[in-house]
Order: sequence, then C-alpha cells, then structure tokens
Amino acid sequence: MKSYEKMSKEELETLKKELDKKYEEVKAKGLKLDMSRGKPSKAQLDITAGMMDVLDSSTDLVSEDGVDCRNYGVLDGIKEAKRLFSQMAEVPPEKIIMYGNSSLNIMYDTISRCMTHGVLGSTPWMKLDKVKFLCPVPGYDRHFAITEYFGIEMINVPMTPEGPDMDMVEELVSKDDSIKGIWCVPKYSNPQGITYSDETVRRFARLKPAAEDFRIFWDNAYCIHHLYEDDQDFLLEILEECEKAGNPDLVYKFASTSKVSFPGSGVAFLAASDRNLEEIRKQLTIQTIGHDKLNQLRHARYFKDLAGLKAKMREHADIIRPKFEAVLEVLENELGGLGIGEWIKPKGGYFISFESMEGCAKKIVAKCKEAGVIMTNAGATFPYGKDPKDSNIRIAPTFPTPEELAEAAELFVLCVKIVSIEKLLATK
Ligand code: PMP
Repeated sequence: MKSYEKMSKEELETLKKELDKKYEEVKAKGLKLDMSRGKPSKAQLDITAGMMDVLDSSTDLVSEDGVDCRNYGVLDGIKEAKRLFSQMAEVPPEKIIMYGNSSLNIMYDTISRCMTHGVLGSTPWMKLDKVKFLCPVPGYDRHFAITEYFGIEMINVPMTPEGPDMDMVEELVSKDDSIKGIWCVPKYSNPQGITYSDETVRRFARLKPAAEDFRIFWDNAYCIHHLYEDDQDFLLEILEECEKAGNPDLVYKFASTSKVSFPGSGVAFLAASDRNLEEIRKQLTIQTIGHDKLNQLRHARYFKDLAGLKAKMREHADIIRPKFEAVLEVLENELGGLGIGEWIKPKGGYFISFESMEGCAKKIVAKCKEAGVIMTNAGATFPYGKDPKDSNIRIAPTFPTPEELAEAAELFVLCVKIVSIEKLLATK
C-alpha cells in the first residue's frame, strides 16, 4: 500500500471523499460499542463460575491453620491462600500479605502510608516541599490518578521495547532525592503489552536512588495473563534480584486475581522484603482486623495451586486471543504500510496500544465516539491526562464480541485514515 505521505494533495483529497462517504454509512448503522476499559467479558467470568459452589452451608470453613474463616482473626492471610498466591507472586509464602479485593487499593494505601508516615523511619512525604514520581509512559491511568490525588508531581519516562528508559531512570533517581518512587507494570504492560527485559529488571534492582525512601511500585497485574501457550514473555523476579543487588527493601510488588477470577471480587496481595512487611503489618493492625478470609478460602480451594491458576488462564486466553487477533488483523490489513500509525502485537495482558501521527489521537477518539464507538480517552495513558504528542490510543479488546470488535476496528481504522489525511492536507 502506498504511504499517505507520498500521496499528492489531489490523491489525498479524492481518497478523503471516499472515506468520508464510508464514515457516514458506518455512522448511520448506529453502532454502540465500548472498547474503553479492560474488562473481562461474561464468557470469561463464566470460566470460574464454579467458584460460587466451593463454599456452602455444609462446607468446613476452617483453614489449614485451624482458623474458622467466618470469624475475626488472621491479619495477613490464611495459610492456603498465602501458599497459592506466593506461587503466583514467585516469592516464598512468608514474603506476602493477602489483602482484600483490589490491588489498586493496596497501592493507594501504600502511597497514603508513605505520605503520612514515611518509609522505614524517613520523613513523611507530606512534610516535604516536593515529592515526585517517575511515570513510564504510556502507562496505567489509575496509577497516575493516585499520585495526582496526593499532590505528587509526575515525571514522564518514555517506554522502550525493553521497558522504561533506564538511562533516564538511573540519572533522575541518583540526582534528585525528591523522587520517591516509580510506577511499573513490568509484564504485558498496560497499555503496550511490553515485558521488561532481564537487563531492565537488573538495572532496577541495582538502582542507587538519592532518596533512601525511594520505592519501586511493581504492579505485576498481568503476571500470568499470556495470550499464547507456546510464545510467552518471561519476567525476572524483582525481589530476588533486589536481594542479590544488596537492595532488598527497594520494591513493593502487587498483584491480584481481578482478571483471573472476578474483578472486584477477587483477592489481592503484596510482596516485599521482611523489613518492609514488618512496617506494613504495623499499619495493617490498626487499619483492619483482617481481610475477607472466606474469599481467600474460596480461591485457595478452587484453584489449589499454580497449575490450577494457569489452567484457568489458558481458558481466558482461548476467549480473548481471537479478539486481539481480530483487531490486529484489521490494523494490519487496513493500516499496514500507510505510515499513519504504529502498534505493538502483545503476547499477553489486556490492551493494544496504538500510536497515531502526532496531534491526531484526540480527533480520532472523538470521531469514533461520534459514530458510536467509545475508546479510552486520548491522553488517559499519560500523567494529568496530557499526552505531549497527542498520539497514543489504548484499545481494550476483551469485552466486546469478536464480531463487534471487527466492526469497531473497521470504524477505528477509518477514523485514523480520515484524521491523518486531514493532518497531511493541512501541510500540503
Ligand atoms: N494494575 C493494572 C496495571 C491494571 O491494568 C489494573 C486493571 N485494569 C489494575 C491494576 C487493577 O487491579 P485491581 O482490580 O486488583 O485493583
């Protein structure tokens, strides 16, 4: 296909007329589709429907360590849940704390504690003139929302195919002690689906931050969320690398079963060094008598072990793989070679990240919306909702059906073409 850049003004104008006509036809269909949030579909929720049968009134609700899960007690998780989810977290059971139904909630709590109480005896962040966070971009909007909420200044760090630009990360954290943390989605990142290379993980573990209370917020939300059985990314385990590097306390690691069992009704957990965990438990004793043990028991008895988790993840992959492929196929067929957009083919996670020509993302998303397809707001993948190039668009293909997706993707590429031509014509 001929690149749009190489087309003459007349060629572009003729093409635009055709595409505008097509757009009006699609618009007349009155589509109502949503590709904005990374939600599992009903069919995915049905995969673990059997969880609801694990506990009933005749079930023995005593955990392996002899605790009646209906009652108060057990601050950091029942034995079988810690065993199971330490396998998912790739750390020993004594290195994790089981929480409630959301990992984002743990991240919020963690920042909140750092603000009010500091980290291992450091000055509470709220007492400092300035607190800054590094934010690999594009990234997860809700991470940025938490740091913005607490008034933490966010600094963009560009992503590379190996993870965040580590030269920049090393340089910034070594010089500026007001930089207290970095948000990371190290595996099948949201939204690009990038997995950090071994070298990136090791460079993180070896960081020498100027701030002793600097922490890496390692959100391994998509740790077992592969799309392909025979082509999976591998991520080095960060806690172990930090220990090896003599930096055991550098990282807080988070994950949950939101996209394994039920979003909003799963279980979440945190892994960290002994010193960090000790500090966190002190807060936790004040905060709660304990999290929902019945849900922990339900999860532990249902999944049993890592193999049980992985088996269910294969069923998820079987449902979402065709959806990713439906979108990618349309992108490839319709936009390949035109020079008006780039995307990464992810091997896991929940998103496809699209890079339009500069200054086009907002217009593309608005044009899709006008014809009935809701995309994630352009800019949402950047701190403060501001994409400096106005080019990144996050596509979330898991919720609609493959047929709906094909339709939505057709409209999306049409909008990309029209908006790109408008931009090119403006310069000719
Ligand atoms: N982290 C990332 C990177 C996510 O994409 C999501 C869900 N979209 C979450 C965390 C949310 O996790 P939870 O449901 O456990 O709060």
